[in-house]
Amino acid sequence: METTDQKEPEKLGEYLVSKNLITQEQLEHALALTKESRMRLGRTLVELKYITGRQLMESLLERLRTSDLGKRKKLGEVLVSSGVISEGKLLHALEVQQDRKQRIGEVLINLGYVTKDQITDALATKLQLNLVLCDDYVLDDKIKRLVPKEMAKKYSVFPIGIKNGRLVLAMADPLDSNALDEISFYTRLRISPVISYDWSIEIAIDKNYQDTDEYDSRDGEHMFDVLEAELKFDKDLQFGEKEKGEPTSVDVESLYLKSNAPKIVKLVAMLITDAAQKRASDIHIEPREKYVQVRFRIDGELQNIFKYQREMHESVVSRIKIISQLDITNRRTSQDGDASVSIKGRKIDLRISTLPLIHGEKAVIRLLDQSKGIVPLQELEMPSYISDAIIRMFRLPQGMFIVTGPTGSGKTTTLYACLNHLRSDTRNVISIEDPVEYKLEGISQTAVNEAVGRSFASILRSVLRQDPDVVMVGEIRDLETAEIAIKAALTGHLVLTTLHTNNTVATIVRLIDIGIPPYLVASSVTGILSQRLVRRICKHCKVESDVSDEIKSFLSDFGVDNIQKFYRGEGCPKCMNTGYLDRMAVYEYLSISRMLKIALSRKTDEQELLATARTEGLKLLYEDALNKVRAGLTTIEEVMSKVPFEYSLREI
Ligand SMILES: [Zn+2]
Repeated sequence: METTDQKEPEKLGEYLVSKNLITQEQLEHALALTKESRMRLGRTLVELKYITGRQLMESLLERLRTSDLGKRKKLGEVLVSSGVISEGKLLHALEVQQDRKQRIGEVLINLGYVTKDQITDALATKLQLNLVLCDDYVLDDKIKRLVPKEMAKKYSVFPIGIKNGRLVLAMADPLDSNALDEISFYTRLRISPVISYDWSIEIAIDKNYQDTDEYDSRDGEHMFDVLEAELKFDKDLQFGEKEKGEPTSVDVESLYLKSNAPKIVKLVAMLITDAAQKRASDIHIEPREKYVQVRFRIDGELQNIFKYQREMHESVVSRIKIISQLDITNRRTSQDGDASVSIKGRKIDLRISTLPLIHGEKAVIRLLDQSKGIVPLQELEMPSYISDAIIRMFRLPQGMFIVTGPTGSGKTTTLYACLNHLRSDTRNVISIEDPVEYKLEGISQTAVNEAVGRSFASILRSVLRQDPDVVMVGEIRDLETAEIAIKAALTGHLVLTTLHTNNTVATIVRLIDIGIPPYLVASSVTGILSQRLVRRICKHCKVESDVSDEIKSFLSDFGVDNIQKFYRGEGCPKCMNTGYLDRMAVYEYLSISRMLKIALSRKTDEQELLATARTEGLKLLYEDALNKVRAGLTTIEEVMSKVPFEYSLREI
């Protein structure tokens, strides 16, 4: 039962220090490096030239001798003292073992003196460990990722769960210090061993790990061997033709046949399919010094997905360039391209960009799921006082509606929902976008292209000659665009646009700052919507949660002390253990009322405007966010990190 795999015996480092072969400082340095590189301690020490290879080998051999002897005695003693075998039989077995170079457990079994189960029973008694049957356990994915299948098989162990911060590990051989060391090191957890029969462990492993193949069982920290791995290629993924009749050079079938690296083609196809299935918005492929890290942005946060060999990277990037018609030979400048794929009937547009970095080209693939692009206005989860006000405003013949928030706050989704609401056979709706992300039937969409002089301002001028009723201007970035847009809003057009500002009142101040006179702002702007995206608690693992006193006192500083219950996601396979699944927006809406127009004619100070808006019932961004916390839709932590708490309710 004891292990013969003694490449790196227990506490090798301490042993080397005790023999004065290395200093404590050198040990700590090497240990820190092994954590990063996952290289063995011994090899690290040799590479650092703290010891020679010969010294390492001699030390390992000596450790092997002593630890093996220690263990043999232990198991023998256990079996004799628990009456399983006589001392005579043990001595005989030890003698036989000299010749056969087998493990003592195996020798005893081969001699017919004991059964494996008897050894297990004896160990349980002697070591006072719980004896468990693990073949009925069902592991959750978190634990499975913690101890991968290969490790469980190699050491004949089965992870049962985590208790009091320790990993409860069923072991066929709880004396196997190598297993204890390596698993503890790998999981960064201390281990509470229990004992189990090896057959029971084997059944449990086969049952629990059966459905994971090499790719699925990986996590962000694991190296994924592109050439060795069995890749599942989703045949439902197809590269499509580019719009506007521009043919892509992609004929996936012929490429697949011609390519001498079908693995690469498969890998890229699998990456895209996997990202789409995990609802990722972006795939990041980042070359680092020794490997390439693949990350997905899911619900706004980057997550490590896996790593692959550095040597494969050029081929992977070339493949990505081929599907997006970029220049394969150009590796020195950044490039942008696009492609489209369909996965099981879902059409996904890909925006690809490459950027040369010191370790090679980084590629980012943005996924725009055309089936998810347009959300009806009613499904944006706006408080009804906001959606009602916006729909009322859209009945006006003219005016400007501004959506504001930083990049990635969901402004585009809101604008598309508005355009979708506004489109009709009797209205001419034109949008100017940078770039066109989703295609909308019944709307004339055009894209900005600064390189050929097609800026927002210049396109807007021509658009206004096209007799539009509704114009969407993707973004106001400069005074020129702002001026034309405001003029349009004053002359019978409904203008929808976005601005990068923090909140609704700040948007008014910003327009004045870039040079629009306050009276023009007052007469043209009809409504301003400010928004942020927060992650939604995963409904599959939602639990009630405590919050710290700091959070409570923070909230009370802002005049909020009426939230009774908080919730969070515990983490489950559905949310990839993040506790969050999907996102939603939180909103603040300012309607430009008569009173506000009067205030604007007198003063343009943010506090003053805010005070006026507040008396008219303006609800701040964080008030809507906290309502969503109260409703158990998101967490207080998420709101505090994504939503600005600018003015205390006590002050205004
Ligand atoms: Zn979950």
